[in-house]
Amino acid sequence: MAVTLVEQVRKAGVVGAGGAGFPTWKKIDARADVVVANGAECEPLLHNDQYLMSREAERVVRGVELVMTAAGAERGIIGLKEKHRDAVAAFRRALRRRPHVRLAFLENAYPSGDEFVIVYETTGRVIPEGGLPLDVGVVNSNVETFRNIADAADGRPVTERTVTVAGAVRRPVCLSAPIGTSLADLIDAAGGPAEEEYALMIGGLMMGKLSRDAAQPLLKTTGAVIVLPPDHRLVRRRTVPFTRSLHVTREFCCQCMLCTLICPRYLLGHELYPHLIMRSVLFGLPFPEGGGRTSAHLCCECELCGLYICPMELPIARINGNIKRNLDALGWAPQKKTAAPAPRALRESSRVVTRRLVWRLGLQPYEAAVPFREEPLRPRSVKIMLRQNVGAAAEPCVRKGQRVRKGQLVAAAPAGKLGANHHASIAGVVREVRDYVRIDAA
Ligand code: SF4
Ligand code: SF4
Repeated sequence: MAVTLVEQVRKAGVVGAGGAGFPTWKKIDARADVVVANGAECEPLLHNDQYLMSREAERVVRGVELVMTAAGAERGIIGLKEKHRDAVAAFRRALRRRPHVRLAFLENAYPSGDEFVIVYETTGRVIPEGGLPLDVGVVNSNVETFRNIADAADGRPVTERTVTVAGAVRRPVCLSAPIGTSLADLIDAAGGPAEEEYALMIGGLMMGKLSRDAAQPLLKTTGAVIVLPPDHRLVRRRTVPFTRSLHVTREFCCQCMLCTLICPRYLLGHELYPHLIMRSVLFGLPFPEGGGRTSAHLCCECELCGLYICPMELPIARINGNIKRNLDALGWAPQKKTAAPAPRALRESSRVVTRRLVWRLGLQPYEAAVPFREEPLRPRSVKIMLRQNVGAAAEPCVRKGQRVRKGQLVAAAPAGKLGANHHASIAGVVREVRDYVRIDAA
């Protein structure tokens, strides 16, 4: 019996490379009429997707075509920005005589890569509240995921990823690195930190995670490592205790409504009113009342409201995230609406151009040319984390002292559960098996 694409992708350990880490085999095991590749790359300072697209456009298109065939889709769309000229030129070459896949140019705005936003921008369809792209007949994923799908179909597992190393480093760089490379090795590849003390924003400055641990490994979901001085406002903001965040919100929210008027989900027509959520915090309520609960669940935690528009710089996304997790813990699930809303008229004039965001966040000193490093990175050791995905952690299938070759399965998704396989990203000897598999180069 022929092996299906879903099985090839499951075997190869492909997960959403845009940051979410949802196992791709599960996502593409569906029927849809449109397949969308997300090449928006809307977070400031990032370059990895544009390099991947300019260098591997053919493979990305191949991945889109494979998913189209598997899902029964008639159309493929690659969403990217026109300003990424090399990527656009590479796709134009790759798409000759392939009319079933087309390019869609996205505004140079944040967050144009948000799942709901890109599905609307590329197809004109609004995902209903509590819904998924599949609810409007769309399968979508990041461009690197589609490249990995094409590789999976050729029998190649995920062992590397493209990553941007930028911010307060001596020579910002974009490179392809083995999964499990330490962030310290990546920072070294960028000439080392420009500051003696620094913090790391992993994944991006707006939606990424703050860390001070450069020993941690590169995951399949890590598209960027941004180094910042420890007193940068983006770092300070994330180190405030949550109780303090609630306190400042109660003290300082003036109910100006600007957070709502700029919110990308509100502008798509969803019933998300962050100022009302802040009002309920103002009154000391543990959760917003009634529909407000659904409201918090609609927040994608893009941080645009708090970082860009709120005159008090209040931690709105953080509070929404906390409400969502509290509701999840209570077993509350949002009800999916069947009707898709109509985008609000205000949307056309409320987009936030990425350039303005860079200025507002004080990131101009870090805007620099970011070349692609051709020379492969050869770390002496890698740590393959067992959990790099939504769902269950993988189970190790190698033992200490065992020799492994690059691409060999080292941890398998548990049977019958949502999960992902992980493979050796370098050839070497297994030195540790914990919640990761450490391999030292042979
Ligand atoms: S923008 Fe800030 S101050 Fe204004 S309503 Fe929203 S949270 Fe309150
Ligand atoms: S973080 Fe703010 S702007 Fe972004 S979706 Fe949530 S409420 Fe809207």
